Amino acid sequence: MKLHRTLLRSATAVVALALAAPVVAQSNQPTPVVATFSIIGDMVERIGGDHVNVTTLVGPDGDTHVYKPTPADARAVSEAEVLIVNGLEFEGWLDRLIDASDFDGARVVATQGIEPMAFKEGEEHHEDEEHHEGEEHAENEAHEDGEHEGEDHADDEGHGHHHGAFDPHAWQSLSLAVTYVDNITAALAQADPANATDFYQNRAAYVAEIEALDAEIHQIVASLPADRRTVVTSHDAFQYFGRDYGLTFLAPQGLSTDSEASAQDVALLIEQMRAEGIAAAFVENVADPRLLEQIANETGATIGGTLYPGALSDQDGPAPTYLEMMRHNATTLAQALGS
Ligand SMILES: [Zn+2]
Repeated sequence: MKLHRTLLRSATAVVALALAAPVVAQSNQPTPVVATFSIIGDMVERIGGDHVNVTTLVGPDGDTHVYKPTPADARAVSEAEVLIVNGLEFEGWLDRLIDASDFDGARVVATQGIEPMAFKEGEEHHEDEEHHEGEEHAENEAHEDGEHEGEDHADDEGHGHHHGAFDPHAWQSLSLAVTYVDNITAALAQADPANATDFYQNRAAYVAEIEALDAEIHQIVASLPADRRTVVTSHDAFQYFGRDYGLTFLAPQGLSTDSEASAQDVALLIEQMRAEGIAAAFVENVADPRLLEQIANETGATIGGTLYPGALSDQDGPAPTYLEMMRHNATTLAQALGS
């Protein structure tokens, strides 16, 4: 179904190209594109190459969940022809930023068309049978509802946990990343039809790398023993990764980092780690490591390293691109779990 749709889209694009090619002149001016965070920014650069001028709002090691846009961000959005966002309520600050800008370009939701995982509330939803077929995925549309109540929710004693009905961390699935890439490619081709051939060529090379890495990670994880496949991270960012590769991720914090983990959640997690002998915990580049270190101390679990849930590292770090980030996370997990 997904493959079919992708083929259909590519075929449509080829037809559109064939029709457009004789009349559209080659443009040399790079298209100004804004990406909300570093992972999407990297994808846009891979696909757009020299034909795009990408501004990324939340940079390396930045936490998109709790980001506060700056006046410079509003200016960049005002000048953008294309604004590419994750959607699924990952960028809770986006509507206000757009309101504060003169943006009149194309707003593209990179997760458009994926089947998102449902938000998991506590431990009751451990069964994965819920697929939500037939739902309209209204959360996945760019919405202009203009409702901004709860703006100050991050400050109200940690009870303002802001999340949607779906888990936004879909880039943690390499197979879903192909949908991101397709949506970005289509958006760039529409904004700059003269260079669409290049975008589709870049897309093909990029998707081949994504699929090769997906196969490689399947192999890496396949070697792990069945009783060493549960790990603890700071927040619930790895459900898609866990589903793809058969790992279980537990976290004291929920889907967003904008609320504190409750003492009760932490106590329950520690209890579960002791009962199940969960021996590895991982800190995150975007989160304060202290809670995880405390949990590791109390349970005797080892800190297995640093995972990158939702932001790249800088160029000198271990995760300067999306693909290097995914490989780093997989090898870090495998090294800690395999020993
Ligand atoms: Zn997150």
